[in-house]
Amino acid sequence: MDWDDFARWGGRIAEWGAQYHKTLRERPVRAQTRPGEIAAQLPVSPPDAPEAMDAVMADFEAIVMPGMTHWQHPRFFAYFAANAAPPSMLAEQLVNTVAAQCMLWQTSPAATEVEGVMVDWLRQALNLPQDYTGVIQDSASSATLSAVLTMRERATGYTGNREGLSGKGALRVYCSEHVHSSIDRAAWVAGIGQDNLVKLPTKGERFALDVVALEDAIARDITAGHTPAGIIAITGGTGVGASDDLGAVLEVAKAHDLYTHLDAAWAGSAMICPEFHADFWNGVAGYDSIVFNPHKWLGAQFDCSIQFLRDAQPQLNTLKIEPEYLRTTGDAVTNYSEWTIPLGRRFRALKIWFLIRCYGLDGLRTRIRNHVQWAGELCDALREIEGFEITSEPILSLFSFRCPGSDADQQRLVDALNDDGRIYLTQGALNGRKVIRFQVGQFDCTRDDVMMARDVIEEIWRQINGRKVK
Ligand code: PLP
Repeated sequence: MDWDDFARWGGRIAEWGAQYHKTLRERPVRAQTRPGEIAAQLPVSPPDAPEAMDAVMADFEAIVMPGMTHWQHPRFFAYFAANAAPPSMLAEQLVNTVAAQCMLWQTSPAATEVEGVMVDWLRQALNLPQDYTGVIQDSASSATLSAVLTMRERATGYTGNREGLSGKGALRVYCSEHVHSSIDRAAWVAGIGQDNLVKLPTKGERFALDVVALEDAIARDITAGHTPAGIIAITGGTGVGASDDLGAVLEVAKAHDLYTHLDAAWAGSAMICPEFHADFWNGVAGYDSIVFNPHKWLGAQFDCSIQFLRDAQPQLNTLKIEPEYLRTTGDAVTNYSEWTIPLGRRFRALKIWFLIRCYGLDGLRTRIRNHVQWAGELCDALREIEGFEITSEPILSLFSFRCPGSDADQQRLVDALNDDGRIYLTQGALNGRKVIRFQVGQFDCTRDDVMMARDVIEEIWRQINGRKVK
């Protein structure tokens, strides 16, 4: 392919993309394929001879597209949204085209410097104090792992990396029972171990970590000779949006000199709206590490996760490594690869720059406010369906419900809804029961898209239960 072909195909693919997005509502949200169906259509061996791009593109449409779940579909209510606002997609196309590997300042100074400024724009947007810096990571999982490794190293006097963990006793990390599985995985990978991730009960309608239980657990562990290393708090947990009392948790952490990490991967985006601060953000200043994913609710194309750090040094002490071939000379510069686990880095900041400039924070706030409002309205509408139960009230734009019947009936309803394809939902668990989650957060969804879900849910529920469809 020469560069003239590249230009022609670039234009065709951009047009294809616009058409795809304009007609998304006509497609089922979740892929309607069976396991193995796509792979069976691909040749088992690679071609020896080159093929025409026309043929490649035709197969993309015929074979690949039917096997895609449409995350940008306006009626995507499953998991959490992974929004890609059009300006952020365009920024990604530019990044893909320049194709720089931005591991060090000198390997693309603009990437590093735009990243520094974007982290600071978002710091201001989330109303964090000026002393926070930060870094863009690929995922909240990576940011959380970085923070847990830092907890480990800090608690072992920065000897774990060098000497390993043998003979260091049990390091304990505390969190609520509502944390995302990425926290479990961070504890496994950091060598802390699942049994030393102390999951504590929650209280109240926001499912906040019980700080009395937290204090008790720390005191018990100290008596038992364990070493408390850190606390992980959440704002907007995955299951039902659990949100801790950040100030109260921080107070306990300070009393025991523990490193703190806050997982606000989903709900962090909503903190660009000041009216949510009183309920969800009070006490945030002081957390050592805070993660939020602009690739979820804010509209920056996946992947894009911000890790704010109150003091970057503990994480640098944990992760920085500088072999001769990576050494740079000259003025002091930031080499962001020293802040993270992977060395190679994409230029992720550009899509944030495009996104914020094209919408303004106000444009992004309006979307988030609408989503919260519509989630509340839909929740009230579902409450009215006979036999349906709201199992958790909306926390920002996430709530959960159950239809009449057993856990198996909940799954049957979820599966039938997703086979129908007009909307896409997923299940979760609350207090030992299966619940159906509903989150509103897709960038292009309208109130009609959200409210339509009420009728679709009732219709499908009636269908699978042999009741008359209204
Ligand atoms: N934390 C929360 C609350 C989440 O909901 C998720 C994913 O949905 C994660 C962490 C993990 O995010 P990532 O996929 O960026 O690792």
